[in-house]
Amino acid sequence: MGKGMPYVEKEHTGLRRGKRMTEKQGKNKVCSVSARCGGCQRIDEPYEVQLQAKAVRFRKMMEPFCKTEGILGMERPEHYRCKVNAAFGEDRRHNVISGIYEEKSHRIVPVDSCLIENEKADAIIVSIRGLLKSFKIRPYNEDTGYGLLRHVLVRTGHATGQILVVLVLSSPILPSKNNFVKALLKLHPEITSIVINVNERNTSMVLGDREHVVYGKGYIEDRLCGKVFRISPKSFYQVNPMQTEKLYGKAVEYAALTGKEMVLDAYCGTGTIGLIASEHAGRVIGVELNGDAVRDARSNAKRNQVKNIQFYQNDAGKLLLQMAEQGESLDVLLMDPPRSGSSREFLEAAARISPGRIVYISCNPETLVRDLKILAGHGYRVERSVAVDMFPFTEGIESVSLLVKHGG
Ligand code: SAH
Repeated sequence: MGKGMPYVEKEHTGLRRGKRMTEKQGKNKVCSVSARCGGCQRIDEPYEVQLQAKAVRFRKMMEPFCKTEGILGMERPEHYRCKVNAAFGEDRRHNVISGIYEEKSHRIVPVDSCLIENEKADAIIVSIRGLLKSFKIRPYNEDTGYGLLRHVLVRTGHATGQILVVLVLSSPILPSKNNFVKALLKLHPEITSIVINVNERNTSMVLGDREHVVYGKGYIEDRLCGKVFRISPKSFYQVNPMQTEKLYGKAVEYAALTGKEMVLDAYCGTGTIGLIASEHAGRVIGVELNGDAVRDARSNAKRNQVKNIQFYQNDAGKLLLQMAEQGESLDVLLMDPPRSGSSREFLEAAARISPGRIVYISCNPETLVRDLKILAGHGYRVERSVAVDMFPFTEGIESVSLLVKHGG
């Protein structure tokens, strides 16, 4: 993929409408490695066709519940991923390569620039690859266990322009560390922080547990819907910040808060949705299983001087059950579970507490539909639902649905 690519639709208009190209048919024009990488299942379709197909699929899946309100697409759907990860290795001739793992394998497909990744992040990864030889840094070899550099992770702040580079090493010592950092900053003065992460294990997890900051603050900040969020190397943060604003905007709109409500942000991650909703609500509580995310959520509350929010580290189902048993009341439930969806325990406890409104944010329409059926059995009706294209060129469908309690 060349830089500054024009809008992809031009390349494709009139070509193979709706059909996929296989490797046998020839290489994709937009990306020469798409067949091996497998990340962009819809790369051969003009963006408008992708949007249409996702909207239709979502409408059909939601047919038993409500009429959907279409899909919110992007004006420029390329290079939306603000988090980019490159694996490092060697080819057969021992040249250093960096890129993406081939689908379902650990073979590296060399990638210099990618249609959906942030372009600055890609350029930084290429520069790092270029520096390795003169610094005598070898990429890590998974089979032999030799070599130092395993991955480079780059996180970029869409609104702030801040850039965090994480060098994932197989051991804690980076030779000539200071000179390496200096050389990288000379090539990319836009980098605001560099962190070394040590991953000594033989694992498919990218990041290890230990990290030390070698330049800057060790994290970036980004702004979403007027609030500032801290993003550390490991925090969950939506990968497409432009569309995330639309997604959260819809969630807050559906919640129809008046300033008095008691709100629960379930599966809250770093607290983004709850913090954005907090200024329209009476009180918000957030619940999240991951300890690092809860720590970030608390610091995000302080950073934004939000006083009417509290975060709990717990299983969302357990917390909701406790609330139900203690007879607590809830006006609005915001929920954003992982791909696997919510649990029966959670949904039944939610029905017992019986909030007037439930706003269900989902990244997987299959589990959404499954969960909506359970809630429908408890008197909840889906009143509104919209898809948001968070992952252009891929199959992913993100959505927000509003459920209202009837007859309760
Ligand atoms: N709402 C957040 C995060 C959504 S991702 C955002 O928009 O950024 C889903 C989150 O659910 C992850 O942070 C994951 O750690 C958390 N999670 C997964 N299972 C959970 C459970 N059983 N209870 C609470 N949180 C859970």
